[in-house]
Amino acid sequence: MVGGGPAGLATAIAARRHGLSVVVADGAIPPIDKPCGEGLMPDGVEALHQFGIKIPDGEAYPFRGIRFVSGGTTAEARFPRGTAYGIRRTHLHRIMADHAAASGVRMLWQAAVTGLHPEGALVAGELVRARWVVGADGSGSRVRDWARLDRRGSDATPEKNLRFAFRRHYRVAPWTDFMELHWGHQCQIYVTPVSQEEVCVALISSSPKLRLEDGLGEFPELCARLENAEPTSSERGAITVTRRLPRVYRGRTVLVGDASGGVDAITGEGLCLAFRQAALLGDCLLNGNLAQYQDGHRTLIRRPALMARMMLFMAKHNHLRRRIMRVFQSSPRSFAGMLAMHVGEGSTRNYISNGIALGWELLKA
Ligand SMILES: Cc1cc2nc3c(=O)[nH]c(=O)nc-3n(C[C@H](O)[C@H](O)[C@H](O)COP(=O)(O)OP(=O)(O)OC[C@H]3O[C@@H](n4cnc5c(N)ncnc54)[C@H](O)[C@@H]3O)c2cc1C
Repeated sequence: MVGGGPAGLATAIAARRHGLSVVVADGAIPPIDKPCGEGLMPDGVEALHQFGIKIPDGEAYPFRGIRFVSGGTTAEARFPRGTAYGIRRTHLHRIMADHAAASGVRMLWQAAVTGLHPEGALVAGELVRARWVVGADGSGSRVRDWARLDRRGSDATPEKNLRFAFRRHYRVAPWTDFMELHWGHQCQIYVTPVSQEEVCVALISSSPKLRLEDGLGEFPELCARLENAEPTSSERGAITVTRRLPRVYRGRTVLVGDASGGVDAITGEGLCLAFRQAALLGDCLLNGNLAQYQDGHRTLIRRPALMARMMLFMAKHNHLRRRIMRVFQSSPRSFAGMLAMHVGEGSTRNYISNGIALGWELLKA
């Protein structure tokens, strides 16, 4: 396994559960931090349960739903089922790494993978023999490159889909048990409660120059809440990108998690998607059927990709977003319907009827 982030650890655990022997090599030192909104939606929590992982009390902050805030308009809805958690990435990593170690996964930390080899992979220049090499090395995956799985051609470069994020934590008691998404003209800001006394604030925008402090200026209410709150982490940046690959395996090399493509961070669905892919990949490694993994991978990414498109549309079109927000505010059922779809609850029929109702309300608005 190249990479011991959430996708690599989940795949390692899934493979161990099928009795395969697994080595994970990661260049970093655990527990690994990463700029993230740190919201684990109910479907992500459920996906983690499949690996036998439960979030212990005190490691995370449960939240009940999502609230959108845009120019004085607010819409909120509870999750139809289950609990979501705000969880520091370092906590999630420690919990998952402990579980992987207890499952018998061999872990090599501070061990960067430097290349592929016909018989396995080179870890710090040394050959580690393996039947399968799984690239779980994140959005900037080198395995993807080495295995020539990077898309080439007209829409090869996802530069147009690049967005830039900055994240910082603040010591302040959460003022809500909702995850908030504040929509501005230039950016969106997520606020996720991660403990009784800390929130995670993450900004996403199309400009690499827009830092958290500048972006917060668009949201006076949020600024006031954070005004006297001490930052508990330094500001860290990351890139988020929507990327679809025509294929996710070649020969014995296969990709999972952000390495295998992904959806914009605005969806908050990256972790859940990675866990679902990991569970599927575990099954497919056992039966040696990577074509089946590729088919399933395509299906798994469909709903998050649709949500990403809808949310990026709202991000780009300020005028339309204001109208949509007015509809969500006056018709809480339509927002609840969208949230249900977001977390994979409800049937296609529900989605269609909710979409038609939303369209109708928009025409009237
Ligand atoms: C700003 C932002 C906010 C987000 N908010 C949310 C959210 O609220 N909820 C959510 O579910 N998702 C969110 N996401 C998405 C989520 O963070 C990712 O989907 C998730 O981290 C993917 O996990 P991964 O294991 O595939 O990749 P990563 O977490 O990037 O892990 C990759 C690992 O590979 C290792 N590695 C890289 N190269 C090598 C190498 N050559 N050799 C060995 N190891 C290597 C790295 O050290 C790292 O540990 C957000 C993303 C961003 C950018």
